[in-house]
Amino acid sequence: MAEPRLYTMVPLLQAAERSSLDGRHAAIGAYNVNFYAQAAGILEGLMRTNSPGIVQASKGANSFQGGADKIQYMLLKAMADLKYEGPVALHLDHGDEKSAMQCIDDGFSSVMIDGSGNNFTTIDNLYVTQRVTAAAHKKGVSTEGELGQLAGVEEDVVHEKSTYADPVIVPAFFRMTGADALAIAYGTSHGPNKGKTDLVNLAIVGDCYQRLRNDGMNMYHFLVGHGSSTVPQAFVDRINQYGGTLTGTSGVPEPILKQGRYLGVRKFNIDTDLRLAMTAEARQWLAENPDAVHHSPLVGMISGIFDGRIPAIDTKSGKAVEPGKITDPRSWLKPIMDATPAALREDYHETHDDPFIELMGLVRGTVADHVAYLNKEVFNNQGLADKVEGRSIDHLVGVAFPKLDSEPEVIGHA
Ligand SMILES: [Zn+2]
Repeated sequence: MAEPRLYTMVPLLQAAERSSLDGRHAAIGAYNVNFYAQAAGILEGLMRTNSPGIVQASKGANSFQGGADKIQYMLLKAMADLKYEGPVALHLDHGDEKSAMQCIDDGFSSVMIDGSGNNFTTIDNLYVTQRVTAAAHKKGVSTEGELGQLAGVEEDVVHEKSTYADPVIVPAFFRMTGADALAIAYGTSHGPNKGKTDLVNLAIVGDCYQRLRNDGMNMYHFLVGHGSSTVPQAFVDRINQYGGTLTGTSGVPEPILKQGRYLGVRKFNIDTDLRLAMTAEARQWLAENPDAVHHSPLVGMISGIFDGRIPAIDTKSGKAVEPGKITDPRSWLKPIMDATPAALREDYHETHDDPFIELMGLVRGTVADHVAYLNKEVFNNQGLADKVEGRSIDHLVGVAFPKLDSEPEVIGHA
């Protein structure tokens, strides 16, 4: 088998855009990853529907795994293990300038530079996105910027309010920065408590996309929707049935996502859904296999976290999490990553006979189920893997980016 290779996200999003011009209106799912079984599950889901896909890792996921190079290795390993040859990109989610540059050097095929935070003005956002894009394109790496702010927890920052993207400046943002994709805030939010949908403003999506179409930019510049998890009630119910105490959860209803892709969103970010699916699977399995704790110190650690004997720590904030409210698998896998990182990375199943392996297999299956479901039923991209043309952004390498008048100092990050 050929050495697995990563795609930038451009040819994937182009395939979705072409399908949309043909009336199919497909979009690409971008799924967050933190450890090997999750990566393998995402790939398995993509294979089942023959879909292109984006695997993405946040700064926090990279540090959980010990660095961007480790994440890249883990994904390539999962691709080799599954004999996966479909189009997949490895993308940094919500990078700052430093982490984006690191990922460009460490083998990611795509990076997001989020210059939309509280400390940034629009002009700062343009500068930093342009700098990162120039460095990324030199190495054949694609980029995503962000305009507007989503409510919810975004990396380390809690945004109380959301601010919509301004459609008028979207084409100019692309022209001035050279970015390939742009996350536009239109009223969705991060996390499992999205609240009412009355903030969602799909007219913003349609307006942004029409401006790109009018300027003939739609085949090279794409719109991204963050905070797009649907938060299925079945996942929440299962978590609560087996000891969880989640309340007030809600996601983006599927019809809104479908309308979003109809109106022009080509990449949807899914993180929370996979966290909930994996946590539900783990809680149920622990309840149904009480003996497993005696046969595996790793399972013992997870069990201790879910029943409160071992404190659960939020990997982003470093604060304690009430055991019933745990949704992030990094919280329940943290002690394992500290004690036996190889168990979460690769190959552990080949050398160990441990009930923990069975749990990781279930985690992988539940991730694959949900990825395949979203691809087929919500993103409408089943079979689209065959329509992806080319792998790179060669057409962009060497393009002269418009020079802004003066380059400010590197901007600090919250
Ligand atoms: Zn986001």
